[in-house]
Amino acid sequence: MALEITIERSAQLKQKPDENKLGFGQYYTDHMFILEYTEGKGWHSGRVVPYQNISLDPAAKVFHYGQTVFEGMKAYRTEDGIKLFRPKKNFERLNKSNARLSIPHLDEELAYEGLIKLLDVDREWVPSAEGTSLYIRPFIIATEPALGVNPSLNYLFMIIMSPVGAYYAEGVNPVKIHVESHFVRAVAGGVGEAKTAGNYAAGLNAQEEAKDRGYSQVLWLDGVHRKYIEEVGSMNVFFKINGVVVTPQLNGSILNGITRNSVITLLKHWDVPVEERRISIDELIEAHRNGQLEEAFGTGTAAVISPIGELSYNDEKYVINEGKTGELSSKIYDTITGIQKGTVEDPFGWLVSLD
Ligand SMILES: *Cc1c(COP(=O)(O)O)cnc(C)c1O
Repeated sequence: MALEITIERSAQLKQKPDENKLGFGQYYTDHMFILEYTEGKGWHSGRVVPYQNISLDPAAKVFHYGQTVFEGMKAYRTEDGIKLFRPKKNFERLNKSNARLSIPHLDEELAYEGLIKLLDVDREWVPSAEGTSLYIRPFIIATEPALGVNPSLNYLFMIIMSPVGAYYAEGVNPVKIHVESHFVRAVAGGVGEAKTAGNYAAGLNAQEEAKDRGYSQVLWLDGVHRKYIEEVGSMNVFFKINGVVVTPQLNGSILNGITRNSVITLLKHWDVPVEERRISIDELIEAHRNGQLEEAFGTGTAAVISPIGELSYNDEKYVINEGKTGELSSKIYDTITGIQKGTVEDPFGWLVSLD
């Protein structure tokens, strides 16, 4: 069945914001993409429409039982046109999240086609100032108005887009992270592996407590032993210990980050030893005591690399690399952002052209 995507252009275009004051997720482009799912009919009525409010029945299942998933990706303006970074990976992951949340499988080609059409209509919104990009937020919500606890019969898939500023306005700066020993984000067998709203709602209180104490994010430990390292806020985490880069293995409760995968691929390409395995907070502290904890950083689409300059755990502080960005962290950051800007060779074919 060939599904056609229609385009309805906005009659009145918005004024674009100052590219030097974008922040994150403050402004939205002129259009959005919508695709509907109806039980028995499948996904249908794909369309690019003016950005607008949507109307939902208050009984829509998403409001009550959290049946929803999302993705996060970016479009970059380069010398050579508009580019996306490994976009198919996001739609693949969206379907993995769907499977976990009992949301029907989405035709990845159709979703991608919708994104390309939306980007084409709103191409003027991809900013060009240094470090800026167009953040893309695909998401699905359960819309059936019924309070019975079972999977919704209807859904909306939408894509909204927001021009975002340079993550590091004054160069890459290490952050201070609080190791959370009371709350947990997810457990094996739960939904930690899915990009679904509940994981983020569940993490807000610990994040706020950490902020009150002067830390920018939380480092989560596993939900069973409160011992093994999981991830940082909405980033995966890496440690360089005595020349070896270690990151927690995908265990079902951490998110399978695309940046994480790109970093591992790069390290292997450079012949830097990298291990995906269980790593405990005790091992990390022991490495710090022995002077072997050389670098630590988080990875995610928003910041790409976020160096960690200090960890706090059980009232002790552990400063890493004198609170400065490590050499390897810098090299990874420069390489990935360079590939995204088209200024560094892309041996893996990660960049996809819009045109
Ligand atoms: C999105 C996300 C990440 C990073 O994934 P990327 O694909 O690299 O952006 C890591 N952890 C969590 C919890 C996330 O939601």
